Amino acid sequence: MFKEQAQCNNLSNLLAQLSEGLERYQRFEHPDAMTTADDWMPALSRALPSKGLGAEKVISEMSQYVIPNGSQISKPGCTSYITTAATDMGSVATLAGIVASPQRIGMTAFNHLEGVALNWLAEMFDLPAGMQGVFSSGGSTANLIGLGAARQSAFEQVGLDPANDGVQRACKVYATEHSHHTVHRAVAVLGMGRNAMVHVPVDNMMRLSPRALKRLLLEDQKSDALPVAIVANAGSTNTGSVDPLQEIGEIAREHNIWFHVDGAYGLPGTLDPQVHDLYKGLALADSVTVDAHKWLGAPVGVGATFVRDVQAQYKTFNQGEAAYIETTTVQDEHVENSMDAMGFPYHDLGVELSAPTRGVIVWALIREIGVEGIKARICRHNGMARRVAELVKKHPNLELALEPTLSVCCFRYIHENVGDLNELNKKIHRQLMKNGVNIPSTTMVDNKLVIRPCFLGARTDWHHADDLVDEVIEIGHKLVSVEKL
Ligand SMILES: *Cc1c(COP(=O)(O)O)cnc(C)c1O
Repeated sequence: MFKEQAQCNNLSNLLAQLSEGLERYQRFEHPDAMTTADDWMPALSRALPSKGLGAEKVISEMSQYVIPNGSQISKPGCTSYITTAATDMGSVATLAGIVASPQRIGMTAFNHLEGVALNWLAEMFDLPAGMQGVFSSGGSTANLIGLGAARQSAFEQVGLDPANDGVQRACKVYATEHSHHTVHRAVAVLGMGRNAMVHVPVDNMMRLSPRALKRLLLEDQKSDALPVAIVANAGSTNTGSVDPLQEIGEIAREHNIWFHVDGAYGLPGTLDPQVHDLYKGLALADSVTVDAHKWLGAPVGVGATFVRDVQAQYKTFNQGEAAYIETTTVQDEHVENSMDAMGFPYHDLGVELSAPTRGVIVWALIREIGVEGIKARICRHNGMARRVAELVKKHPNLELALEPTLSVCCFRYIHENVGDLNELNKKIHRQLMKNGVNIPSTTMVDNKLVIRPCFLGARTDWHHADDLVDEVIEIGHKLVSVEKL
């Protein structure tokens, strides 16, 4: 093999070489990434090489310097981000797609599985019948797709066509301040501007207040701005709160405004019988998003949007014809092999033409453990947030910021001798990061800095709830006693 030739026929050997390092990584037998940065950074910051090393040596470098210094997100005690590490099946199915179907187009088993997986998601999460789904890179894009369809629908109702003529009217999109910032960005990218976002007040559980929404809609009827969508959280990233979907959906219907439900994180929560009723209003949704790379254990890069009015979605996002594709494909009845046709044209329903095939990942994740397995994971994680709340309420030095709805629980350490509790909790969090076992994030609830575990990794088990609370108490006590000296 010449060094200047990339290997293309040695996959299993290279994988065998790589998998040793990956296995060690998954057992967390690697030094802490940050403490050894002095070693790996110089090794990886070399000048542009004019000659190649050959694949085996690159994999050696990868095993020595890159993999051991990867992310801590895959640690079982990491409850920090709302994305998690892929399960083994998530990783393996991704590789299968990359190798055997480098595109989602074509009359392939992979293109077919996009549809199977989307239908399974819709059925598993009780989405309204007849919604068209499409995979994309994640919640950011998934929200953009839903809101793009919403924009088309709202403008067409007043005789305008934003897909072709641009945004010719001021717009309004209603959501709470707990809506994900990717919603704001999507609204901006769609040409409506971030100022189109109207923040609807929330109740004491951080849920959108339907009364406030009604009042705002009535007031805004006097303005020229076009109401484009009402966006509800089915699981806010910050606190896990679920907006009152049924009431919001009814208001949206009454005012003839598109109802978008952002379930990027929390849609799978509907599988937990204890909170299932909160999702009833999904039946009224015009578009819904969910991320497979959050609670379902897919690697990052897999989100989905479901839209009721597929025409509006198509008008916004269709790719247009391309001669190199249209002249290559044949009419349906003459399809003889996978290159003769495009398969289902998902590229007309989102922003990507070339795209990885993602259906195989979701199909495999569900096929591996079934709905029962996924439901058990969701219930365990929601139960863990309730468990944390229970422990917090029992301890005199802990305070609950709000009752958990899903798998997020916000709480803080308190002490009568400490004036600046935000500062104290920040220090506790820094120490948790340093110890590197229980790794939650922090957030602000009612101007209080709180510790925020979000349980959703497939590796995260019941004892992590207790372990985190114990560690917060231990660090808090220590810091308070040191500061007293
Ligand atoms: C994570 C998240 C998003 C953004 O999704 P990405 O996959 O990170 O792009 C949007 N909305 C909510 C509610 C989320 O939790």
